[in-house]
Amino acid sequence: MQRKLVILGAAESGVGAALLGKHLGFDVFVSDKGMIAGAVKERLHTAGIAFEEGKHTPELVLQASEIVKSPGIPETAEIVQLIRNAGIGLISEIEFAARHTNATLIAITGSNGKTTTTALAYHLLHKAGFDVGMAGNIGNSFAMELALGVQHEYWVLEVSSFQLDDIVQFKPHIAAITNITPDHLDRYGYSMDNYAHAKFNITRNLQADDFFIYGADSSELTARLPKYPVRAHTLPFSLQPVPNGIYCRSENIVLPNGHLINTGSMGIKGRHNLYNAMVAVAVAHILGASPADIENGLSSFEALEHRLEPVATINGVLYINDSKATNTDSAWYALDAMTQPVVWIAGGTDKGNDYSTLAELVKQKVKAIVCMCRDSAKIHRAFAGLVPHITDAHSATEAVEVACNLAQPGDVVLLSPACASFDLFQNYTDRGRQFKAAVHHLEANNQNPAFTG
Ligand code: ADP
Repeated sequence: MQRKLVILGAAESGVGAALLGKHLGFDVFVSDKGMIAGAVKERLHTAGIAFEEGKHTPELVLQASEIVKSPGIPETAEIVQLIRNAGIGLISEIEFAARHTNATLIAITGSNGKTTTTALAYHLLHKAGFDVGMAGNIGNSFAMELALGVQHEYWVLEVSSFQLDDIVQFKPHIAAITNITPDHLDRYGYSMDNYAHAKFNITRNLQADDFFIYGADSSELTARLPKYPVRAHTLPFSLQPVPNGIYCRSENIVLPNGHLINTGSMGIKGRHNLYNAMVAVAVAHILGASPADIENGLSSFEALEHRLEPVATINGVLYINDSKATNTDSAWYALDAMTQPVVWIAGGTDKGNDYSTLAELVKQKVKAIVCMCRDSAKIHRAFAGLVPHITDAHSATEAVEVACNLAQPGDVVLLSPACASFDLFQNYTDRGRQFKAAVHHLEANNQNPAFTG
C-alpha cells in the first residue's frame, strides 16, 4: 500500500515537499488552515495532489504515516498537538528532503547573516568550479529543487530555527551557526535557551569526520557550547585570533593552516560581512577550494537585495536599502558599517525591541531619524536627546521625501528598520522595494526637474 504523507501548509516549502513526496510515490495530501494561492492550487491539481484549505480536518491529517510541517506553523497549533498525541512522526521539510539525496550538505543557520553567508558560500564554491546548488530559505526550498530533478554534488542550505525544530536524521557534512541573538522568541516561549536549542539542533547528528563552524564572538552562542558536545571537527571564527580557528588580521582572513585570504577587494562591506565571509571562506577551504579561487570569489560577490544594498546616489547622498534588518542586532551592524553621517529610516512592528544597544552608535553617527511606522512613540522615547531631529512618516514615499530634505551631500540615507514590516507593508521585501521605488522616483525627478510636480 502507498504510504500516506500529509503536508501541513502550502507555502514554498510545503509545496516543495508535496511535489517531492508525489515524485517519490507517496500518497500525498496537503492541508492548509489559510486559503491557498491560486497558482499553488493549479500546481497541486496538475500534479494530482489532493488538498484542503481554510481548515485542517483531523480525520484526514491523522491518517498519515508521516507529516511534514511548514516552518510557519507553531508547536502550539491545535493540529500539531493532535498529531503529537496520536504519536505520528512530524518532520520539517528540510528533514524530508535531505533523506532523499546523497549529495554533500552544507547547512547554515544563525540569528543573522544566514542568507548572505549561504549565498556567499555558494558563490565561492561555484566560482571555484564545484558542482553546487543553493536552497532552503533562499530561492526554492530544498524539497522543491529535488522535486524538480535538480542534482548537485554539493548543496548549500539556509536553514531556519523553525526548520531545525523538527529534524530527526538531518546530518550536514558542514554545519555553521553564524551567531545567536534574540529573535522569534514568541515562538520559543520567550526563552533564549529554547531558541538556541533549535539552532544547536544543526549539530546533533554530526559525526567525527564532519565540521562545525561557529561564531566565537557571539556570547549567547559560546555560553551554550558546553551544553552541546559536538562530535565533529569544530572551527570557531572571530575578529580576534582564536586557537584552531579562523580570524581576521588587518585586511586578511587567517585560515587554521596559516594561509591568508585577502578581503581588500571584497564587494560587501561592514563588520558583519567579515563574519559572514569567514564562514563562507571556512566552508570553501574545508572542501578544498584554493586561496586564489576563494579571493576571486570574494571580490566578485555583490550585496544581496535588501541587505545593505546601495540603491542610488542623488545630489551626493547615498541611499541604502537594508530592509532585511528586522531586529536591533542587524540594525546595529548596519549603523556600525556607516562611515558618513546617517539619516536613519527606522521603525515598524516592534518585536519587544531594546533600543538601548543602539544608543551609542546612534549618538555617534545619526543626524536625524525618520520613523516609518504606525507607532513611533518608543523610538522617540529611546532616542530623544541623542539625535537632533526625529520625525514621522507613514509610507516609503513620505519617508524618502523627508529624509531627502534632512540629508546633505556626503550623508547616507539608510533604511535599516530594526523592526518587522507588517504595520505598513506586506513583508520586508515589499518594504525594501517600495523604498527603492521611492528613491528611483526621486532620482528621476532630480534628473528631469521640469517634471517635478
Ligand atoms: P538572515 O537570513 O539570517 O536574516 P541576512 O543575510 O538576510 O540574514 O541579513 C539580515 C540582516 O542582518 C541584514 O540587515 C544584514 O545587513 C544583517 N546582517 C547580515 N549578516 C549579519 C551578521 N553576521 N550579524 C549581524 N547582522 C547581520
